[in-house]
Amino acid sequence: MYLRYADVMCRVCIELQRVKGLLKTQLSVLLFYCLFSDVLAQTHVPYCIDPSWLPYEAIQDGKHIGLSADYIQYLNDNTTYQFQLVETKSWQQSINFIKQGKCLVLPMLNHSAERATFMDFSKIYFSSPNFLISDIEQPFMQSFENIGNRTLGVTAGYRITEYIAKNHPQINTVVFENELAGLIAVASGEVDLFVGSVHSVNNHIQNLGLAELKIAGWGGPDDYLRMGVSKGHEAILQNIDQALSAMTRDQHFEIYNRWNDVKIIDNTNYKLIWQLTIGALFLFTLILVRYFSVKRYNHHLTTKNHQLNDLQHQLLRTNADLQKISQQDGLTHLYNRHYFNHLISNQDFKQKGQPLCLIFIDLDWFKEINDEYGHVVGDQVLREFAKLLKLCCPNDEIVCRWGGEEFVIMKQPSELTDAKTLCIGIQNHMKNHSFNHGAELTCSFGVAQLQTEESILSCLERADQLLYQAKAKGRNRIGISA
Ligand code: GH3
Ligand code: MG
Ligand code: MG
Repeated sequence: MYLRYADVMCRVCIELQRVKGLLKTQLSVLLFYCLFSDVLAQTHVPYCIDPSWLPYEAIQDGKHIGLSADYIQYLNDNTTYQFQLVETKSWQQSINFIKQGKCLVLPMLNHSAERATFMDFSKIYFSSPNFLISDIEQPFMQSFENIGNRTLGVTAGYRITEYIAKNHPQINTVVFENELAGLIAVASGEVDLFVGSVHSVNNHIQNLGLAELKIAGWGGPDDYLRMGVSKGHEAILQNIDQALSAMTRDQHFEIYNRWNDVKIIDNTNYKLIWQLTIGALFLFTLILVRYFSVKRYNHHLTTKNHQLNDLQHQLLRTNADLQKISQQDGLTHLYNRHYFNHLISNQDFKQKGQPLCLIFIDLDWFKEINDEYGHVVGDQVLREFAKLLKLCCPNDEIVCRWGGEEFVIMKQPSELTDAKTLCIGIQNHMKNHSFNHGAELTCSFGVAQLQTEESILSCLERADQLLYQAKAKGRNRIGISA
């Protein structure tokens, strides 16, 4: 507007030079204005921006901030122009303003066929990709082709909105005033996806803590950002291009780094991961503690089992010893009378149906051995005699010390003749044996065979009587029933 005004003023000035009768002073003022009109005109170049597109550009407290603000500052310092911000409420309004001539420059935008009808573009000085943004429930859909019937949020007046309408008319788009509104709509589930430029989208997501959003695919062609100058102002465009070309790589990076707060959009739910990790660790610790306590308990149990086994064996041995002791005579180690009584009480031998003989034995004149040689020798003689009995009874005979110097042999199967043979054998062995006291030792026998229906005790009594008779007849003889 200022430039057009300056041009007009110049033409008026030249026209006035031709008009005679005009005051010299008035003419001088007009000529002065003509000479400096260009400078005056270049001083103020109104421009509009997207008021909500950080880090690219935005209006904050009436001030232009963002990447394009630094570029504008650079242009202010390096061209003859002074760029002045004209505030707008939305990008769409900025587009409208440039169409209406309310501003001449848009400092950061993409080229599009539609835009090219009312503005010219500088060289590209910044590029960045566009992304599809969705909530974490949506799958990764690569590109626009896979959007299907999902709703896609777009920003009013953005080049990508124009691009989608032209190249993907089938996509169900919902237009938002700015990217922030679109992202909030995705977060709230109002739309399925939103397409936006990586830096600005990331900036919004981080500022609002929209952790439930993620990148869901590529969002069409990259942004190739440049400055747009209203048609008819080629001089400004030329100056801008010259200034941009003169910029060093470092200067570009300096601006980029100042506004590049890009952190990778990280929607990893760290809280959940931490909770799961702690939970897993807790579970693992529990299992470990349980494992070791079970292991310790098992070890304890195994030790106790071994001890129990040992005790059981010890008990069995003790029991066996006790049984032996309860059955054995302590001096001769033959069965004792208690065992014999126990044996005859269960009547098993009767059921065998085999003939059975009982032999009662009493050592002759044994008291005299004691008297003459002492009890120790007497004991030794008893032991020797017991050994001799066992030697003479190699079969299943039960040999028992009845008491004192009396013994009983139960022989089964045995007829009386077998029993008598055994007695003779014993006598012979006694004859041939030299006992501890050094003298001859004899014994008397009472032999009886168990009769049918007869009790063992009765048979034993008969054997005792027969022994008594043998004694009475002079000893060292076998009393046997006919
Ligand atoms: P008989 O020929 O009439 O049987 O004469 P005996 O001397 O053998 O019989 P008596 O009944 O008079 O004496 C038995 C003796 O046996 C008396 C006792 O001192 C002895 N005696 C009994 N038990 C034992 C023992 O365990 N050890 C010793 N050394 N002597 C015993
Ligand atoms: Mg006796
Ligand atoms: Mg005797």
